[in-house]
Amino acid sequence: GLHLFDPARRNSRGYDLGDPGVPEALMAAIGAARRGDLVAAPIVGGAAREGRPEPVRNPATGATVGQVIEADAAAVDVAVATARAAQRDWSLAGGAFRAERLERAADLLEERDAFFLGLAMDEAGKTLADAIAEVREATDFLRYYAAQARADFAHPVALPGPTGERNELMLEGKGVFACISPWNFPLAIFLGQVSAALAAGNAVLAKPAEQTPLIAHAAVALLLEAGVPGDVLHYLPGRGETVGAALTGHPDLLGVAFTGSTEVARMINRGLAGRDGPIATLIAETGGANAMIVDSTALPEQVARDAVASAFQSAGQRCSALRLLCVQEDVAETMIAIVAGAMAELNVGDPAILSTDVGPIIDAEAQANIAAYVAEARSAGRVIAEAARTVLPDGGTFVPPVMIQLDHVTDLKREIFGPVLHVATWKGGELDALIDAINASGYGLTLGIHTRIDAVAAHVAARAQVGNVYVNRNQIGAIVGSQPFGGRGLSGTGPKAGGPHYLHRFAEEKSISTDI
Ligand code: NAP
Repeated sequence: GLHLFDPARRNSRGYDLGDPGVPEALMAAIGAARRGDLVAAPIVGGAAREGRPEPVRNPATGATVGQVIEADAAAVDVAVATARAAQRDWSLAGGAFRAERLERAADLLEERDAFFLGLAMDEAGKTLADAIAEVREATDFLRYYAAQARADFAHPVALPGPTGERNELMLEGKGVFACISPWNFPLAIFLGQVSAALAAGNAVLAKPAEQTPLIAHAAVALLLEAGVPGDVLHYLPGRGETVGAALTGHPDLLGVAFTGSTEVARMINRGLAGRDGPIATLIAETGGANAMIVDSTALPEQVARDAVASAFQSAGQRCSALRLLCVQEDVAETMIAIVAGAMAELNVGDPAILSTDVGPIIDAEAQANIAAYVAEARSAGRVIAEAARTVLPDGGTFVPPVMIQLDHVTDLKREIFGPVLHVATWKGGELDALIDAINASGYGLTLGIHTRIDAVAAHVAARAQVGNVYVNRNQIGAIVGSQPFGGRGLSGTGPKAGGPHYLHRFAEEKSISTDI
């Protein structure tokens, strides 16, 4: 059956950072858990492979966090062959067997969270608050998919009907899955994909993003320690054009779970379509051009808080992040001034400093792209506000938050993956035209609506073609199980991560009918 609610699943442990002493104690524990000798070597068949180590850098300071060794073509081939041979037994072992291992991994992750928090901060430039959310989401994914593996993958389900036979439906793994993830949630998305594919009974080839191999390596080591067999789960770090392309082009692959940009998803989709072998499943979660609609009844302070959090938390490097603030004309001047005021208060700098709100951009290439976009808007006279409280360490890659004025909502043509908030106004009486214009972008990930009128909120929610609607709150940080996450159109294929249907896309159904 379908399990929309699972009372047996434990919530991940949180920290109250507003409690005096808590952040300081956590930072001390993180400092004590730091290790200087991290090497993310490929893990194939449970064993590390050799190669040429390259440094992995902290985007806030340029300091070396550890080393990575790229998987070569031989590693990919051995991993696929080993995974293929091991997958059937893993699937036959059943949902409960797999769930036990994922739950053990969740417990280990919580036990060692200081180590993972430190890596999320050092390798991905996360603030402490973002790092905590990251580890919690990863823990929640492990427990949620484990619970679903127990519920749906442990036993066949009896189907009622008039045939006079015993009819059962069972779910099993598809085969070998490649999991390809982005750097912006280097633990949560990485582990979310991998644990879902494993829970459903697949063998997994996991490729993390180039920028964040270390935390992914630690996550794979944790899963292996928790009892996931080494021939079922393989870790293959490296570049998308090499390792990623070798994986998705492999004829023995039965599925790809991809999270990243819309362009790369298209490329993978084309590759899979042209490939020999079975028709593989593609689960792609991609970019967004997310809007927040503010009408004249909205509370300005609430809008300021939620717009600033949605646009600039994680330096805007979230697929769900607010890109386009659409304010009703008659309140626009005040509303934009209040948002700009809140934005001016943000501290931009090294996340190792506790008061930092906005950390670095992931690398120099991304920084240069965003900076060039901002420079163009500036020379067109469109930058109307920016964050000024910046203390930027040497060697880091930063772009301070900016606000860019547009003439019309349709002027935002693509996702700018950084701390750039566009604003546009709309006229009362033209709400439907506004929603249609937002829908027409083709993206469909998150949408925020701020209004005191329930009927307006309900109308916007019904008309918007997006995956996640947020009413009178920020539009980031979906909670596993309660707020299943994912978009449509240019934003992804679904099913939603952390939702009741996700595991099923990783599975095959088998119907067994027996004469009785
Ligand atoms: P990306 O450049 O598309 O990369 C994502 C992953 O794909 C990386 O592991 C990358 O490897 C790999 N890759 C690149 N080219 C490939 C190829 N030809 N074949 C196979 N794999 C390939 O995205 P990103 O910059 O890491 O992440 C940011 C994007 O992700 C944004 O667009 C954001 O909106 C989106 N995102 C979406 C969601 C969601 O749930 N909808 C969540 C988070 C992020 P390399 O690292 O080596 O390039």
